[in-house]
Amino acid sequence: MITITDDNFSSLNEFLDRKSFSKIFILVDENTHEYCLPVLLGNMETDLAFEILEIEAGEEMKNIQTANQLWEILTEMQADRKALVINLGGGVITDMGGFVASTYKRGIQFINIPTTLLSMCDAAIGGKTGIDLMHYKNMVGTFTFPEHIFVYPEFLETLPFKELRSGFAEMLKHGLIADKIHWEHLIRMQKLDAQAIIPHIKTSMDIKQDVVRQDFHEKNIRKTLNFGHTIGHAVESLYLNQKNPVLHGEAVAMGMITEAYLSFAEGLISAEDCDLIIGNIQKYYPYLDISDFSDDDIFDLLLNDKKNAGNTILFSLLSGIGACIFDHECSRKSISESLTFYRKLNDA
Ligand code: NAD
Ligand code: ZN
Repeated sequence: MITITDDNFSSLNEFLDRKSFSKIFILVDENTHEYCLPVLLGNMETDLAFEILEIEAGEEMKNIQTANQLWEILTEMQADRKALVINLGGGVITDMGGFVASTYKRGIQFINIPTTLLSMCDAAIGGKTGIDLMHYKNMVGTFTFPEHIFVYPEFLETLPFKELRSGFAEMLKHGLIADKIHWEHLIRMQKLDAQAIIPHIKTSMDIKQDVVRQDFHEKNIRKTLNFGHTIGHAVESLYLNQKNPVLHGEAVAMGMITEAYLSFAEGLISAEDCDLIIGNIQKYYPYLDISDFSDDDIFDLLLNDKKNAGNTILFSLLSGIGACIFDHECSRKSISESLTFYRKLNDA
């Protein structure tokens, strides 16, 4: 299902050989077109015809208009049910391409070749596809696994530092919710760069896959992957309308700080663990300005969170470093306290 390798694309070529696809459609954005597509095409050995589908880069493209354009192009190019979509890119491309492929003609096959750290450790490997709706993240989508995921860490060499750091937030999350040793390896890194991170990618992928394998449809343990993502997603959504959008991992880092604080306030972790977690996240991530958003702005989004039931706001919270609980209800009062705590970090 997943191949993580530096095998010069031989596993991809074997996969393409083995299956009888009618045609290949490679979805890229402008950056993966420039940096990753030449590497892929230089190594891909197949007699199959292929087309390149390019969209502009950025979260703003992950919407129904882009999906519609791609469905139309696939139709015009007569993609049949044996066509293969190759998603070559970050989470926007794998979410978007997965969504388009899983709905076109009631579903055609697709594979993911993630090119950002975030998509390698998270977006490309969990079997969720989706697009944003209005300013709600991932409001429409499907649970569909790609035929295969090919992970070539060498793509990280051209990834800008901020994007690398964004993906690193998911790795920290994996350590925090499931594996203390992984977390300790990550916080001991002297320098955040691709070379230092690459040896730890597999552990992060394994943690995510293990959780997904146990609970694909997010009925229970998969919810732990939402740690940092309840408040994080709300802030990310609010930033969607701003001039300087925030990166997913930057919002998740902010979400992990506030939700670690909530874990402490709810009596689930000690003050020492809470300080340690927050201090280490702050070491890597600059303060995220939320002064434009009121608590009510954030509550409105929290109430719309897909993870909630009725009017309650449910969280996945830490019960230790490397342990997480889910469906924990928090009151507006304690959520407000965590936001106040976060705002004060800016003054410290
Ligand atoms: P992204 O796809 O926008 O990629 C980030 C930027 O890096 C883009 O500008 C892209 O063009 C560029 N880029 C990609 N690979 C590159 C490379 N190798 N070299 C140079 N530039 C490169 O963003 P992302 O952070 O990968 O993913 C974020 C998205 O993933 C969000 O939409 C989020 O909702 C989604 N996501 C989905 C899941 C899921 O389970 N489906 C999980 C987490 C996140
Ligand atoms: Zn995430």
